[in-house]
Amino acid sequence: MKYKKQLTNLKGYSQIELQLKCDKSIKFALRKLRGVRMKNNAIMTHLKGRILDVYNENLLVNGTTIKWFSDLKVILSEFFGVEIAHYLIFDVDSFRPLRENYAYAINMPTIKWEDIEAFFVEKNFTETLFWNSENDMNKLVKILLKDQDDKPIGLLVMDSTLKWKEFSETENIEDFVCTISKLVKIVRQSIRLVQQENQYRHLFSVTKTFNSTLDSGEILNGTLFAINNAFPQIDPTLILSNDQDRKTSIPYKLFDYTSERPATVDAYVSGEITTEIEEDLKVRLINVPIKGKQGIYGILQLSVPTDYIFSTRQKEFATSLAETTGNALENAKLYIQSHKLVSDLQLINETSHTLNTNISLDEMLVFLRNQLIKSFMPEQICFVMEKDEYKIIGASNDYFHTDEGQLYIQHVANHFNKVKEPLFIADFNRLTKLKYGYRSLIAVPLKEQNTITGFSIVLHKEPYYFSFDAFKLMQSLIQHSSLAISNSALRNKLQEMVNRDHLTNLFARNYLDKYVESSMKVDDRGVFVLIDIDDFKQVNDQYGHQIGDEILKQIASIIEKKVGDKGIGARWGGEELALYYAQMPLEEGIKNCSQLLVTIPLETNPSVTVSIGISSWKQGDQIDYRDLFHQTDIALYKAKNKGKNQLSVMEVSQLS
Ligand code: GH3
Ligand code: MG
Ligand code: MG
Repeated sequence: MKYKKQLTNLKGYSQIELQLKCDKSIKFALRKLRGVRMKNNAIMTHLKGRILDVYNENLLVNGTTIKWFSDLKVILSEFFGVEIAHYLIFDVDSFRPLRENYAYAINMPTIKWEDIEAFFVEKNFTETLFWNSENDMNKLVKILLKDQDDKPIGLLVMDSTLKWKEFSETENIEDFVCTISKLVKIVRQSIRLVQQENQYRHLFSVTKTFNSTLDSGEILNGTLFAINNAFPQIDPTLILSNDQDRKTSIPYKLFDYTSERPATVDAYVSGEITTEIEEDLKVRLINVPIKGKQGIYGILQLSVPTDYIFSTRQKEFATSLAETTGNALENAKLYIQSHKLVSDLQLINETSHTLNTNISLDEMLVFLRNQLIKSFMPEQICFVMEKDEYKIIGASNDYFHTDEGQLYIQHVANHFNKVKEPLFIADFNRLTKLKYGYRSLIAVPLKEQNTITGFSIVLHKEPYYFSFDAFKLMQSLIQHSSLAISNSALRNKLQEMVNRDHLTNLFARNYLDKYVESSMKVDDRGVFVLIDIDDFKQVNDQYGHQIGDEILKQIASIIEKKVGDKGIGARWGGEELALYYAQMPLEEGIKNCSQLLVTIPLETNPSVTVSIGISSWKQGDQIDYRDLFHQTDIALYKAKNKGKNQLSVMEVSQLS
């Protein structure tokens, strides 16, 4: 303006003079203008040099300070006399004041980009440095910093000074804003690198720990530690699904669909981060799903003040951390599962193997009982065979003979009458109004070619005691044992058949021999009896062999009735029968035999009489089974000799 004025005041000079004067004046004016420009350029160069220093000093130095901005403030103060200056970083959709530790300053206003965008877009930024609005910041200069794609990266806010105003009207302003933008961009990148490096270092150390452990407690502990390290001001909570290892000492909440907040459920179901403001507690909750490759294991819930905004970077970190945790938990789980699977298979294999060796049914059930105890520690076990009525068999707890125990058996029996599937009850008391002692129940049927031949029940007082895995394992164990058990029962039947004489159904001689021999080892005394039918040859001759056989059967059943559970009856051979009473005094044996002498002629048809030889042993007698038999045989011989239809006793003392 000044120079234009000078030019217009040059009236009245000759053309040449004017030309000369003009030339001079223009030259002068131009020189002056150039001088101003040069001066401005020099300032600008100086300014840029100083900014370059800031850049050099702050590049990759330490991401945990914002020294670059303090340095910049010094420059702004020196060059333009600026006293107040703030820097707002752009994240997602707003400019947010930055705090020392890169969390956003929560007590300062954030500026939404959409609120100011039109303003900056409408006008060239050199002209829009003064942004008038009604709020407190209306007297402040706002300089929008953009990246090369014209996207906002930050906002520099400072007080307006005369020096600044003057500078802002020169063409250098564009260069200045551009330089600051570059500085911010590079500092930002550098800070991001350092931050990322820090976060990755954290993640790396967490991952390293996770990889070296398969203990879910240690993994969860590591996660909480990493969160506390990265965000000291954030309060983390673990919300885990209930399929986790229950034994961990880390405090956590059990995820419950019915009572969890909607955003938490949403994160759990969708696998995406969700946030929600909890009005009552005045906090913002950030739900980060703990995701593995096969499923979601829970939620890492971060609680922050309502006006706290999570940065993109913080979200990235929390997501990576939660995913690392999810994968580690999954690995631990898979490891435990695979181990469990191997040990389950070993158990089933061992069980099948043992059960298929030649052991008795009782031994088998005792073994199975031990396997069940070893695998899932029930408090009560029973095995029930389903014949005419439910018969509780060996290795079962006495509890099942009580009235309450019978109720469980009845319940299970009713179930298997309707369906053939195993029964798994987590809380028995939920099924009935009556309250019973045992609340957890598993019942598995014993099957023989698709027919239920019996079942096994395990009980525990604590509800939800048995896991689903335990249920599956018990099913496998019993199913693998079913065949062996029914084989064993069959073998018992066969053995019984071998042990018995087929005509009379009395025990066979072989069995009697073993029985008496073992009794003489373990008992204190016993009575041995031989019974021979009198003149049986004649009976056969007179009535025929078939009638003879009938008489043998009649006598066998009389003997069986007489003996009851006090002893055993056997067919010694031909028409000779034998009795053995373990633990019976001789006198009582004689009494029993006397009664036989009376009943046999009465109850046989055609009627026959018998001769009986009796002998006994007691501890200290120094005789063996052969001696015992021998003296009984002598007694029988005596009875025959004395005229038959009578008994004769041969005592040990008489032998020698
Ligand atoms: P004693 O009074 O001296 O014992 O005379 P006994 O005829 O009974 O004795 P003996 O030993 O001479 O004959 C035994 C007879 O028992 C021979 C046989 O015909 C008969 N006997 C043996 N076993 C059977 C059997 O299984 N069925 C039938 N019907 N008869 C049998
Ligand atoms: Mg005979
Ligand atoms: Mg005879």
